Amino acid sequence: MDQVSELLERNSRFAESDHEELPFLPRLRALVLTCADHRVDPAKVLGLELGEALVIRNGGGRITPAVIQNLAMLAAVAATEGGSSEGFELILMQHTDCGVHRLAGPEHADALGAYFGVSPEEVAEKAPDDPHEGVRVDIETLANNPVVPGSLSVTGLVYDVKTGRAELVERRSPLRETS
Ligand SMILES: [Zn+2]
Repeated sequence: MDQVSELLERNSRFAESDHEELPFLPRLRALVLTCADHRVDPAKVLGLELGEALVIRNGGGRITPAVIQNLAMLAAVAATEGGSSEGFELILMQHTDCGVHRLAGPEHADALGAYFGVSPEEVAEKAPDDPHEGVRVDIETLANNPVVPGSLSVTGLVYDVKTGRAELVERRSPLRETS
């Protein structure tokens, strides 16, 4: 059976046995940003159920200009239902043995710079090969971006693909103190 046929067959079983209608806004008031890597699916490793959280996945689970655009768009969508960023939890989860770590050398600095929206000389500051430093850098990037609501709570996790454990590296709640 080819991939699509197999997946559509699984969908038929889901629609018949597990599907239920869900509210528009996620029950946990949370968004998880993590890597596209098949080993770090938050539905499995964080036990997320349907209807509980928004999920954005990209290479590395990193904050990039594209992710910032996504967050702004999703905030606008949530606002149509009266949702606000107050008490909303943004969870950044990077992981060990990430494919992006392999691109940390100078030969990939142009590509990674474009990805992160920085110059090739600034790529090292993004800690492209260190998930612990990477989540700290990304939390700082969010905190320094006035487009991102300061009332968000932001948590940085590192998931270890060897042990299956996620470690809390940093949490800021709220992201920015209002002065
Ligand atoms: Zn990865």
